[in-house]
Amino acid sequence: MGFPIPTDKIERRHYINGEFCESSDKGTFELKSPYTHEKIVDVCEASVDDTNRAVAAAKAAFPAWAAKSPEERGALLKQLAAKLKELHGELAQLNAMDMGRPVSTYFDGFFAASLFEHYAEAGYEARGTTSLNTPGFVNMTFRQPIGPVAAIIPWNIPTISFAMKIGPALAAGCTIVLKTSEKAPLTPARLAHAVHEIGFPPGVVNILSGHGTPSGATLASHMDIRLVNFTGSTFTGRKIQAAAASSNLKKVVLELGGKSPAIVFEDADIPKAAQATSTSLQILMGQACIANSRIYVQESVAEKFKKAFVEIFSTQKKGDPLDPATQQGPQADGLQHERIKSFLDAASQGAGKLESGGKPSQVDGKGFFIEPTIYSNVSEDEKTQKEEVFGPFVNINTFKTEEEALEKANATEYGLYASVFTKDINRALRVAKAYESGTVGINCTSPSMAHDMPFGGYKGSGQGREGYGYSVEEHLEHKSVLIKIEDDAKTAIG
Ligand code: NAD
Repeated sequence: MGFPIPTDKIERRHYINGEFCESSDKGTFELKSPYTHEKIVDVCEASVDDTNRAVAAAKAAFPAWAAKSPEERGALLKQLAAKLKELHGELAQLNAMDMGRPVSTYFDGFFAASLFEHYAEAGYEARGTTSLNTPGFVNMTFRQPIGPVAAIIPWNIPTISFAMKIGPALAAGCTIVLKTSEKAPLTPARLAHAVHEIGFPPGVVNILSGHGTPSGATLASHMDIRLVNFTGSTFTGRKIQAAAASSNLKKVVLELGGKSPAIVFEDADIPKAAQATSTSLQILMGQACIANSRIYVQESVAEKFKKAFVEIFSTQKKGDPLDPATQQGPQADGLQHERIKSFLDAASQGAGKLESGGKPSQVDGKGFFIEPTIYSNVSEDEKTQKEEVFGPFVNINTFKTEEEALEKANATEYGLYASVFTKDINRALRVAKAYESGTVGINCTSPSMAHDMPFGGYKGSGQGREGYGYSVEEHLEHKSVLIKIEDDAKTAIG
C-alpha cells in the first residue's frame, strides 16, 4: 500500500518571512516511514544561515505585530483554528506517515484548533497593575511582549506542540521561529501553508525543519531571541539552558521528560486503576512525557492488579498506522526503536520478573514495533526504573506502607505527572501534597489534563508553565512606570 498523499504534494521546505524556501546550502535529510521503512521525502535541513534569516524576519516583524490590538491578532488566530479543523484528516495521515501514529488515535487537529480558539481571546490578559502605595507617586506596570521567541518542539505531538507554542506567543504580541523535530516535520510544514493563506504578516511566524545541530543550537544561542520555549528531553533541555546562559541570558521555558509514578492502594477500584494506568502507557505507543511508567501497587492487591493490567495492556491491535482499525503503531523511527531495545536488554539482565512482552516485533515483516512490556519487582536503582524509556514499557513494583510508596515514587530526578488511586480522601490529599510533581491525578492519571491548570515540571522535568492563563504570561515582561505627582501632600486625603 502506497502513501495516501502523493509525496510530491507534501511540503518539505522552510517557511521564512512569508515565503517557502529550500535551505540556502540545499541541505536535506531523508524522512522514512517507521512502518514501511520507505522514503517519504527529502526534507530541508535548516542551516545556520537559514536560521539566522528566520530570526532576522521575526525581529523585523516584531514591532508592528506587538503594536496590533489583541483583537486584530486574535482574528488571525481564529482563522488558524478553523483551518486546523478543516485539515484534521490530512494532518492525521501525515502524522501516521512520519511518526507512525495510528490515525484512529489522532485527535490533535481538533485539539490544536481549540487551543488557538482560546489564544485568539487571550491577548487581553496582558494587563498591568496600578499602585498608590508610594507617597507622592502614582505607579503602574506595563505588560509587554518579551520580543522575538524561538520554539523548539519534539516529535511525539507535533500538531499540538505547534499550537501550544505559536498560540501564546502570538497572543502576547511576540513573533516566532519554530523549529520542528527531524522525526516528525510534516504536520507543522503543512500548517505553514495555512499560516500563509490566512495572511499573517511576513516574519510573524517562521517554521524551520532540521536537526538540533545546527538549527536548534543556533536558536538557543541567538543574540536576538529573547525567549526560547523548548519541549523535549531533559538531556537537550540542559544544553538549551547552557546556550541561553552563555549567549544573551534569554529567558528559557523548559517542558522536559518524565518518569511518572502511579500509586495504587488496596482500597482502590482495581479494574478502573488498571484501565487508567494502562491507557496512560498506550497513548502514542508509550512515547508520552506523562506516561505512568512506574506503578507501585500495595502488596495485598498486586496479583489482582497485574492480572487486570496485563489483559488490557497487551491486547491492542498492531498494524499499519494508516489503517483505521490499528490501535498500536510502530515506534517513531529506527533510533527510537534501538533505544527501547537497549532498555529491554537492560531489563532482561536486571532483578525484575518479565510478566509480558519483552521483545521487538513486526507486522507482516514490517515496522519498528515493540511488544507491550511489563516487568515486576524491579530494583529501584535499575536503568529502566530511573530513566525515561519512551516506549510501551512499564515496571510494576509493590509496597507495604504509604510512606514507603511515597519515598520510592519521589526518588527520581523527574517530576511531571504523578497519580494515586484510593477511596480514602485523606490519604489521597496527603499523597497529592507530598508528591514532587507538577501535576497530580487522584483516581485518574495521564493523559487527564485541564486546559486552565498550569502544566509543567518539578525538578528535572522543567521550568515555567504552560496552560491557559500561564503560557501568555511567560511571554510578557513586567515594566514598572513611576509617575511623580507635584505637591501631592496638598490634596492628601485622611
Ligand atoms: P529531543 O530533546 O531529542 O529533541 C527535542 C527537540 O530539540 C528537537 O526538535 C531536536 O531537533 C531539538 N534539539 C536536539 N538537540 C538540540 C540542541 N543541542 N539544541 C537545540 N535543539 C536541539 O527530544 P525528542 O526525542 O524529540 O522528544 C522526546 C522528549 O520530549 C521526551 O523526553 C519527552 O518526555 C519530552 N516531551 C516533554 C513534554 C512536556 O510537555 N514536558 C511533551 C512532549 C515531549
